[in-house]
Amino acid sequence: AMGPPTFRETVSRLWPYLVKRKVAALGMLGLGVVAALGAKATLVFIHPFVDLLFREKGDSLEGEGGDSFLDKLSSEQIEPWLDSLQYGDLAPPLSGVLALVGLMAGLALVFSIAQYFFLRLSRMIGVWMVADLRQDLTSHVLKLDVTFHSKRRLGDLVSRVTADVGATLRTLQLLLGEIVQEPLHLFATFLVAWAAEPTATLGMVIFIPVVAFPVAKLGPRIKRRSARSQEKLGATNHSLLQMLSGIRVVKAFRAEEREAANYRRYNQEFVGQTDRMVRAQAASQAVTLFASQGGAGLALGALVFVDLAVTPIFSGPGTMTVFFVAVASMFAHAKRITKSMNEVFASLGAAQRVFEVLDIEPETPDSAEAAPFNGVKSSIQFENVTFDYGAGEGPALDDVSLTIKRGERIALVGPSGAGKSTLLDLLGRFHSPTSGRIFVDGHPLDDIRRSDWLTNVSLVPQDPFLFQDSIRENVRYGKPDAGDEEVLEACQAAQLGSFLQSLPDGLDTQVGEAGARLSGGQAQRVTIARAFLQGADLLLLDEATSALDSEAEQKVQAALANLMKGRTVVAIAHRLGTVKGSDRIVVLNSGKIAEIGSHETLLKDSGNYSRMWALQSGQ
Ligand code: ADP
Repeated sequence: AMGPPTFRETVSRLWPYLVKRKVAALGMLGLGVVAALGAKATLVFIHPFVDLLFREKGDSLEGEGGDSFLDKLSSEQIEPWLDSLQYGDLAPPLSGVLALVGLMAGLALVFSIAQYFFLRLSRMIGVWMVADLRQDLTSHVLKLDVTFHSKRRLGDLVSRVTADVGATLRTLQLLLGEIVQEPLHLFATFLVAWAAEPTATLGMVIFIPVVAFPVAKLGPRIKRRSARSQEKLGATNHSLLQMLSGIRVVKAFRAEEREAANYRRYNQEFVGQTDRMVRAQAASQAVTLFASQGGAGLALGALVFVDLAVTPIFSGPGTMTVFFVAVASMFAHAKRITKSMNEVFASLGAAQRVFEVLDIEPETPDSAEAAPFNGVKSSIQFENVTFDYGAGEGPALDDVSLTIKRGERIALVGPSGAGKSTLLDLLGRFHSPTSGRIFVDGHPLDDIRRSDWLTNVSLVPQDPFLFQDSIRENVRYGKPDAGDEEVLEACQAAQLGSFLQSLPDGLDTQVGEAGARLSGGQAQRVTIARAFLQGADLLLLDEATSALDSEAEQKVQAALANLMKGRTVVAIAHRLGTVKGSDRIVVLNSGKIAEIGSHETLLKDSGNYSRMWALQSGQ
């Protein structure tokens, strides 16, 4: 429901990032002014050059007007000075040429140096701003709740964080570079033209709107089309990511052709949208070109006509030459401004897509009255809890009521899609119930401080997730200030002791791509050691389904048995061992609790559970 962003909106959102770099930005502006004035000052020297040339040829160059600033400067300052010069054998006009060349070269050197630092600063300020923006974006994305991450299309997000941020960098560099510099040049050129031929310059100014109008007209269209093209790019990325993350399934079903065709369709849409954007850009440039060339011809013709037929406008050949060169260069700058503005408009859509992500509300912060918490005293109670992902498939959990007593071991069983993970996620506060409530010792879970709650909950996920860091850092992820002794103790309890001893670098061993690759069982035990060290007394366990060899399996089971001792455990169980060791088994089916009880009672009831048990144990 967000309208297309205006130029001002986007600039105002980027503004704080610029303010952070204000010293550099002011320096950049100063350098830009020096470079622009320096570059255009050389135009002024055309006048004495022309005079020197024509005086030698015997023409009288005193124009009729001859009272412009440049005329006075030339006749009262520059020319007497040039006439007074004499280098060795060189007579005045020739030595004057040398002096002029020297002056111009000196000026060129100064403005080139200024230009060098201006460009460096303008490019780097953009890079710094975008680095800050990217940091904000990443921190923000990490704060968004899990529901957002699963709903949001991953490819779209990735494309926003990478491609759109890249496009925003381009916008910034254009804004800070060309869009700052070109108007300065334009203004400096205008000053030169004004100094040379004031009346004629005024006449030209009238034609500026003729060039500016088409850009203002076409800009928004380019912006809209660019946003659409970026969206399509997001869809393409998403389809690629989805395809690759499900590559096994794709291959198993021999769906490569179908997936490639899918991708081709997204890709074609992307090409189509980009084509539309390119067409708008090209049209805008062509219109600008026509307006500027036609406008220039018209304006100059009109001026010369008036000079000849009505009243003298031009004051002399020297100033007139300066004026014409200045006008040509003004149009070149105006054209470059419109071209840069087009590009800015094209990348504005991308910048807005970045801000859209920043505008999404992060997970609800704790209310001011959120209660502190330091462990479950008596029980956790689900009261008619329903949770719906809003995907239109009906609730994932449907009116679930369940009391988990402190120290109890609960096993969640049931077919895939029954709602087991959802129930665990609610306890981890990744989601809040859609209706119904969860109470902890009588307090609503949502009213407990999130950080306190999470300190008291340890999650051992199904796929061991390790960060690319040392084993030490991986183990103390939940308790970053733990000392080595504690870390080693946790590793010992997780059956990692002898493994660590076999590693030359011990706890410093890097895991993941850079270092040793841990086996599945070892990685699992590292995550178990992590939970140990965290020491929370509610354990949320998603048992691994991947098959381990029996020795590795035994070690993982022993580590888990150690971990579960004395804690309240809610475990998604896939194995008979875990199920049998629990106090109660909750059988979920289509989001509802189908059966509940101990292994023995459920077997006697001869319901779903006893059938599952019979299947798995082969009886
Ligand atoms: P289980 O862990 O028992 O396999 P889940 O809790 O993962 O079951 O899923 C319960 C239901 O919720 C399923 O129908 C599943 O398709 C749906 N579901 C799970 N995660 C999401 C999600 N992120 N978005 C939409 N629907 C989901």
